[in-house]
Amino acid sequence: MQDHAGVSRSAAVVTAFIMKTDDLTFEEAHNKLQAVKPDVKINDGFVKQLKLYEVMGCKVDLTSADYKQYRLQKIIDKYPELQNLPRELFALDPMSLEKTDDVLYRCRKCRRSLFRGSSILNHVPGTGPIAFAHKRFTQTLREEDQTKCTSYFIEPVQWMEPALLGVLDGQLLCPKCRSKLGSFNWYGDQCSCARWVTPAFQIHKNRVDEMKHLKFSSVRNVSS
Ligand SMILES: [Zn+2]
Ligand SMILES: [Zn+2]
Repeated sequence: MQDHAGVSRSAAVVTAFIMKTDDLTFEEAHNKLQAVKPDVKINDGFVKQLKLYEVMGCKVDLTSADYKQYRLQKIIDKYPELQNLPRELFALDPMSLEKTDDVLYRCRKCRRSLFRGSSILNHVPGTGPIAFAHKRFTQTLREEDQTKCTSYFIEPVQWMEPALLGVLDGQLLCPKCRSKLGSFNWYGDQCSCARWVTPAFQIHKNRVDEMKHLKFSSVRNVSS
């Protein structure tokens, strides 16, 4: 008799295999497996991973926002002290890049480059009633129409590291001019659209400017 962890792990591996080979969702593959082995159990951690695997089309795409968000959620379990976090968790500081074809976001006040477009972890906007549950239904509908995300939720960037270590939540300040850009919370925060994002590293959209400098670099290439 195997121990429960072993049973759960092998059931998860088999489920992942069925999902990929038979092109099934997690639920379908799990039902199929249970039809053959009714006593099979997969623990919640594996279920979460398998659902993520489904979202990513049965591939592990290390650059996908879903994967990055999932990895960030695991950090608080693995490093409850929030010390000695793995280096690769932090996106490269755009100041350390010679050039990038990615969209850049700069501090509106001092123009320092803060993060790249690829660092934004998009989420599906939440539905109004969660955030505005205390309001009357008619109001809720009208509010929902203008519901928008007023912040970018991004992966942590290298310049944030000193602010993030050992602290559960706090402000995010521009590393150059110290103006307030947003906030972070390892246990998550609610976006203005009502969606909870865990953990949350949010930058207010009105504190940064989007710079699409793709054209400038190609102009330079032509003239050189
Ligand atoms: Zn949102
Ligand atoms: Zn600044």
